[in-house]
Amino acid sequence: MQERLKELQTEALEKISQATDLKELNDIRVSYLGKKGPITEVLKGMGKLSAEERPMMGALANEVRDAIASGIEEKQTKLEEAAVQAKLATEKIDVTLPGRPVRTGNHHPLTRIVEEIEDLFIGMGYTVAEGPEVEKDYYNFEALNLPKDHPARDMQDSFYITEEMLLRTQTSPVQARTMEKHNGKGPVKIICPGKVFRRDNDDATHSHQFMQIEGLVVDENIRMSDLKGTLEVFAKKLFGEDREIRLRPSFFPFTEPSVEVDVSCFKCGGKGCNICKKTGWIEILGAGMVHPNVLEMSGFDSKKYTGFAFGMGVERIAMLKYGIDDIRHFYTNDVRFLKQFSIQE
Ligand SMILES: [Zn+2]
Repeated sequence: MQERLKELQTEALEKISQATDLKELNDIRVSYLGKKGPITEVLKGMGKLSAEERPMMGALANEVRDAIASGIEEKQTKLEEAAVQAKLATEKIDVTLPGRPVRTGNHHPLTRIVEEIEDLFIGMGYTVAEGPEVEKDYYNFEALNLPKDHPARDMQDSFYITEEMLLRTQTSPVQARTMEKHNGKGPVKIICPGKVFRRDNDDATHSHQFMQIEGLVVDENIRMSDLKGTLEVFAKKLFGEDREIRLRPSFFPFTEPSVEVDVSCFKCGGKGCNICKKTGWIEILGAGMVHPNVLEMSGFDSKKYTGFAFGMGVERIAMLKYGIDDIRHFYTNDVRFLKQFSIQE
């Protein structure tokens, strides 16, 4: 009987050590420790034993039970732990795996130039003014000292919609509209970016649609030196601190005197190269003192008020700044071109 119990213990512990999951372990528990198990079966034979042998055998039976029970408990802890580890292993997240990049667009190079110029002038106290792209002949030409019979006003260059309406050929009508709104009271300090339209045949340097930025300042005691100082700051900011500007006399109907403004070549520093056509200077914009007629037509007293205005083509500035050789790149939306202006890549 004693041997039988020892045998059962060894057999049970052997099975416990080989158990691979909790269900198997539970089956072992039921079969060895249950009421119909072999140990209970062995103890039924206790009646045949002598009074001296009984307690000894009872103690042994309990020992065997305890050994099997603790063996099962130990194994159960191990199996549960293993199950948790296995679950963790299958649900593991690799936080070092690189993410999938989200492709985003970027600002068009013209937008970037416009924003850069706007920022600069807003910093000098200007506000940004906008106006309609379909404009009245009056604001596009007449209010800017270009009466109907003026020779500088070539019908062939404009997209007319009716006799009195056209696609604006310049952003200057925004200046005329803004001055009119001021009712003859200064100061006016605005920058006007926008699309303009001319009947040009598109080629590397011409586009029937392009962008301009114009600036206008009207106040008492505004002088030519104020214009020069402003444009100097502009040229240095956009093309580098070492840049210089020079003014050459020119003619525009809405300014008097009028000037063309050149900036010293940012590539060769003035020695002469292909960008500046060996002159050391690059023409970047037109400017001048606002013509007294323009002031008067917009309601300003030209004896009290003076002003300056300047205007430039955004494409030309962008082409110079980024070394772009064909204006059509701005409008054909080739992603290979546009991607070069992405801040991400
Ligand atoms: Zn040069």
